[in-house]
Amino acid sequence: MAKLKIDVNDLHKSFGKNEVLNGITTKFNEGDVVCIIGPSGSGKSTFLRTLNGLEEITSGTVIVDGYDLSNKKTDLNQVRQEVGMVFQQFNLFPNMTVLDNITYAPLELKKLSKSEAHDKALDLLKKVGLSDKADAMPEMLSGGQKQRVAIARALAMDPDLMLFDEPTSALDPEMVGDVLEVMQNLAKDGMTMLIVTHEMGFARKVANRVIFTDGGEILEDNTPDQVFDNPQHPRLKDFLNKVL
Ligand code: ADP
Ligand code: MG
Repeated sequence: MAKLKIDVNDLHKSFGKNEVLNGITTKFNEGDVVCIIGPSGSGKSTFLRTLNGLEEITSGTVIVDGYDLSNKKTDLNQVRQEVGMVFQQFNLFPNMTVLDNITYAPLELKKLSKSEAHDKALDLLKKVGLSDKADAMPEMLSGGQKQRVAIARALAMDPDLMLFDEPTSALDPEMVGDVLEVMQNLAKDGMTMLIVTHEMGFARKVANRVIFTDGGEILEDNTPDQVFDNPQHPRLKDFLNKVL
């Protein structure tokens, strides 16, 4: 039995009067690779952000790796050390080299020695195919390279879970494949991953589960084959007609 990683129960999130998450209940297990699809504005980013404490929960419970995020006393910094996140816009530190971007958090938070952090960063750069970019500044990199550095930076904290929020949406088409390949390799290595994406081919190939959200609710949660070949909910059918 894999260890249960995430347990979300009747999660609601509002911004003022705008109810964005409308009662989400789901579980994710260790090793799950779950793609979350759905129209823009359906609450996908908000949902991911609640899983590492970037959004305060309005009601319901969210337990991640044993941390109760619905409890205000929970140490969010501790949670974030175990949950890596990759954003659409990379969010690299612009004034630091690639290497310093990757070693910064491990040096500050994990108290690794400089040489340990350095060696680890070089290993990770190799893994994402950027061994030659350690000393580059982010502005010298293409979007796809920046995103692979962002993935390496998140992995440098040895997270138990990786959250990806549309990691390829800001990239030129020719850059998308390299980033997806890095993610596919991570999945193969057994990383637990939740991925908001519009890359339906990737979702079908790499995910063991696909969740369709609309209006802040999960409307379908099934294997990729079922979701793509045998969609049930009319709004999922409509969505797939538009994107496929
Ligand atoms: P998605 O990622 O599916 O496109 P989001 O989670 O980004 O959807 O947004 C869902 C809704 O929540 C949108 O109506 C958006 O305007 C609103 N929203 C998201 N973040 C905030 C915020 N920080 N303050 C106010 N409204 C927000
Ligand atoms: Mg979003």
